[in-house]
Amino acid sequence: MKLRKIAAAVGAIVVTASAALVSAGAGQASAAPAFKMPFPCGYTATAATWQGHSPELSVDWQKSGITGDAVLASAGGTVTRVADTGNTSYGKWIEIDHGGGWTTRYAHLSAQSVSQGQKVSTGTKIGSAGASGGVTGPHLHYEQLLNGADQKVVVDGKSVPYYGKTDFTSKNCGGGGGGGNPYTPKEVCGSGFSVINEKGLGGAGRVYLMYNSGTGQNCVTTVKNTKIGSKSPASALLEVQGGDRKTDKGEFSYYAGPVKQQAAGKCVKWGGSVGDKSFTSAFQHCGS
Ligand SMILES: [Zn+2]
Repeated sequence: MKLRKIAAAVGAIVVTASAALVSAGAGQASAAPAFKMPFPCGYTATAATWQGHSPELSVDWQKSGITGDAVLASAGGTVTRVADTGNTSYGKWIEIDHGGGWTTRYAHLSAQSVSQGQKVSTGTKIGSAGASGGVTGPHLHYEQLLNGADQKVVVDGKSVPYYGKTDFTSKNCGGGGGGGNPYTPKEVCGSGFSVINEKGLGGAGRVYLMYNSGTGQNCVTTVKNTKIGSKSPASALLEVQGGDRKTDKGEFSYYAGPVKQQAAGKCVKWGGSVGDKSFTSAFQHCGS
């Protein structure tokens, strides 16, 4: 009798403790991020929902020929899982933690293009749609979760109807709306550098001229503000008067550069481009 009473008391304590944990978790929850459709701007797909889907509130994004199409982050955050369950369940899948208890999951991918711990922005390409795992055909299985529990999916401010098939057109168009490039010019050039001049590229990106007074080096980087996370044309240049022009030009996911040159006491020309928007300065900043 005595033992049983003790066991019951212990049980009660455990229940109380876990109830406290649950309420603490709920208290930390914040408003849902402004989730966007997990496909590029203008892409149309059908959101399919049905009873018995696992988990129940998941959405299967369907479109003929979807295999290989880009899958984008619905909101900014940190990639917490890049996993592969083989021919069962999710197959190749990705989870992103958006903070405030919110996560999203993307499953049955044909390719994964981010790594665990990576910072992503709204619209960062994280992989390609496919038919990996336990599926009967290609589609993107998608979940929005709060503290691990699946929630009714909302994208671009619109609730996905339960249950049925509804067409959506993506407004995951980059440049604002809670997105943004996760890289700062300081991260690109290094901690000893400070911004001494900058120039916007009509919303497409921003060119930064930095200087490190400890080493006498200038550094130029162009940070993208469009197609963040997807490779697109960008460049950064730095020319020291009387010397060579150094240019970093190509297809970049986040930024061009860093381009560094020794320039203490010399004038520099600096600039960069994103897509068809470009800027090149005159020779300036001759003193530092
Ligand atoms: Zn599914």
